[in-house]
Order: sequence, then C-alpha cells, then structure tokens
Amino acid sequence: MTGDLFRLTIADARDLLHRRELSAEELTRACLDRIAEVDRRINAFITLSPREALAQAAAADDRLRHGDAPALCGIPLAIKDIFLTRGLRTTCASKILDHFVPPYDATVIARLREVGAIFLGKTNLDEFAMGSSGENSAFGPTCNPYDPTRVAGGSSGGSAAAVAAHECLAALGTDTGGSIREPASFCGVVGIKPTYSRVSRFGVIAFASSLDQVGPFTKTARDAAILLNTLAGVDPHDSTCAARPVPDYEDALTRDLKGLRIGAPREYFIEGMAHEVDTAVRAALKQYEALGATLIDVTLPHTEYAIATYYILATAEASANLARYDGIRYGLRVPAENNIELYNRTRARGFGAEVKRRIMLGTFALSSGYYDAYYLKAQKVRTLIRDDFARAFECCDLIADPLQMYLSDIFTISVNLAGLPGISVPCGYDSGGMPIGLQLISPPFGEKTLLCAADAYELSGALTRRPAVI
Ligand code: GLN
Repeated sequence: MTGDLFRLTIADARDLLHRRELSAEELTRACLDRIAEVDRRINAFITLSPREALAQAAAADDRLRHGDAPALCGIPLAIKDIFLTRGLRTTCASKILDHFVPPYDATVIARLREVGAIFLGKTNLDEFAMGSSGENSAFGPTCNPYDPTRVAGGSSGGSAAAVAAHECLAALGTDTGGSIREPASFCGVVGIKPTYSRVSRFGVIAFASSLDQVGPFTKTARDAAILLNTLAGVDPHDSTCAARPVPDYEDALTRDLKGLRIGAPREYFIEGMAHEVDTAVRAALKQYEALGATLIDVTLPHTEYAIATYYILATAEASANLARYDGIRYGLRVPAENNIELYNRTRARGFGAEVKRRIMLGTFALSSGYYDAYYLKAQKVRTLIRDDFARAFECCDLIADPLQMYLSDIFTISVNLAGLPGISVPCGYDSGGMPIGLQLISPPFGEKTLLCAADAYELSGALTRRPAVI
C-alpha cells in the first residue's frame, strides 16, 4: 500500500488490514509521520506514545495474521488527555497533573486495548474540559486544521483537530455541555455524544458527574458506529453505566429514512445566528426531506434557561470533583510548613484561571444558605428542560439544530441537561471555508437512529467534503 494511508476511514482500513493488504505497522507509521509533519502547526497532542504505538501495532499484526481479529484491531487512535492510560502521562491539560502517570486504564481504554486498537498519544483540551475553544489549556490552544489562525473548538479540540488533520483515524472525547459536538462542528468531522450512562466513565477524569459522557470523533458516521460498538455497554466499575444491551450500531446504517420525523425547534433558529449557518442547516434539512423524512415544528420553551442552569450545576459538581487535587494524593505538590498552606499553594499554582473561577462559583452555589436558591433551583429547571424534550419527542423522532461558534453552547448544553444523545455531522462551509455542523438529537438510547440519519445524509452526496488546509 502506498499513498496517504492516514486519510483512510476506519471502515476502509479495517478491510485492508483484514485482507492483509495493509499492516497495522504501516498504518501506525503513516499516522506518526503525519503527526511529525503537521502537529507543530496544530498542537493537537500533549503527549505522544510512538514506541508503545508501534509495539501495539506489532501485536495487532500478529492477531490479524491469525485471522478473526476484531474490527478495531490495528486502528490508530488519538485519546483526549482526560482518559486514564496506564503508564502514559495524563494531564487533563492542567499543570496540577503535569507529571501524573496513571497506574490503571479507564474502562474504555482497557476495552480498546483488548480489541487491539492503537494509541498514538493524548490530545489537547481545555483544562479539566472547561471551555468551548481549547484556549484554556495549560499547553496552549489547538489550531483549526481548516485555518490555523482559528481555534479548533473545545473542550475536546485536540481530538477533533487530530481527526480533521488526519493525524489519526479517529479519536476519543468527552462531552459535558458540548465538548464533542462543538469541536466536531468546528473541524468538519463527525462527533457523537451518546446517551448519559451509555458509555462507562470509570477512569475518565471527572468534571461534572451528572453531565459527563464519552464519545468518538470520526471521519464518517459509519466509523462512529464501529467505535461505539466497542465503547458502549455496562461496566461493573461504574454504577451510573446503563445495563441495557448494546445493539450493533453498524447494522443500523440502513440508509432508510422513510417515515422519520425530524423536529426543527423554533427556539434554535434564532436571531444572531450567522446567515451562512442558517442557510447550510436549512439546505441539510431539505436534503433530509428528499431522503424521505418529514419536517415538523417543535418547541423547547425552556431553552433560554439552559446556560444559567448548566453553569450552576456544572460548576457545583466541578468544585466537589476537583477537591481531590490537594497536593497530597497525586499530581503537583508545592511544599509548605503545614497542610493548609500546602493545599493553598498547590492549588494556587496548579490550576489555571478558568478552573479557579469555576471552583469559586461552584463552592458558592453549594454553600449552606445558598444551596436551595441555586443548586436546587437549577435541578428543578433541569427537569423542565428534560420535559421539553420529552414533549417534543412525542411528535418527532429526531430534533435538528445548527452548530456554530458563538451560539454553540446554547444548542449543546440542553442535551446534556436532559441526558440525551446528540451527533454533529458536517453540513456545509462558510465563505471563509470554515466547516458548519448539523446537530441531531434523539430520545434516550436513540443512537441507532442518529447514526443511521447521519450516515444516510453523508452518503446522499448533498455535501462534498472539503479537506483541511493542513
Ligand atoms: N463549553 C462548556 C463548558 O465550558 C462545555 C464543556 C464540556 O462539554 N466539557 O463547560
């Protein structure tokens, strides 16, 4: 095999690997060379693991030679630096974990290891996944492969950019309020946040535990289905993980959208949205109609409260989760005369400005006397937002909305508050050549419908994908 191997999709690489027309080693080397060539300009990676990756590739080739290897065997992936990886530095883009080497794997990492996937390295993010642009990383922002003077989105910007720049075949991210779907839309790749509880979070550094979810970044919807097949499913280490059986997501890609009802929420097509985004999304919806779907007007009346609700809940939970970084157990320690001083100095030096802001806000929201007024109230509004979706889904199967830089948080956050799955698929480019994403949202555990709808749109040829300029 010659040519740009790093441009392959998982599905195509899988076929070539299984037919022994390509080796995992060749493919891994192609990605590592690509990283060496472009990552200076992208900054998608915080840590690389070329030696380990090549050892994994050799083992994968052994398995492939013996036949009957799993779908992801020999597929090079990039991993957001929020997943614990045994023996490989995991920083969460924070100085407080600068030298932290985890003694065990996150469940999803262990599963990927087991099926023979290859880890190229750990990707950049906003510190502790707090942000929408990647600019809060202690390791500098990730640049957008479609225009390196712009951001790649956040918080999983490194993973999205690594896929868009073909530094890997696919990547893992996490999404607390949009961190998979936003960077996917900025970088013109597919990103899916599964239903809350669909994928284990054991060994994933916690930001806001009632919102965090794990998901893949891929070049195609089919690749997302292939990855989700391995990621999803019950985990005895994570009691919040659903016991529901995992369907074969790749089997769901039937291209049949007859009778599918897509809701277009009034509140999401709002003023302030860039004209070109509006046009691209409306054109995508037209294409869905041509494919056999019906468009329906729906309303999500509590959308305007989503951001306020999210920032109370997310910061409150973060303030509790981040209490563990005390300089005693792991990570940075700034020595002092006594423990209180040690905590203070360690946290003052280790955390960046955004993380400190959120810890302060969250601690305040949870403090006695304020708990009822803020946290409890936010939980009640959260129920109203969830009920909005439940009501809308009485008359439609999917909800569609646009994804774009300025307004993106408002479109993504409600989905986390309601615990629903959402996918972002490329649906156009603006006049500056920047990608535009269409978000599709489904009822809980509707990943099959989301992936099927995304795949059908992709294969309809309505959008000619443009390569990144990198
Ligand atoms: N942009 C949101 C925030 O800053 C969401 C981040 C995320 O999903 N991790 O909190």
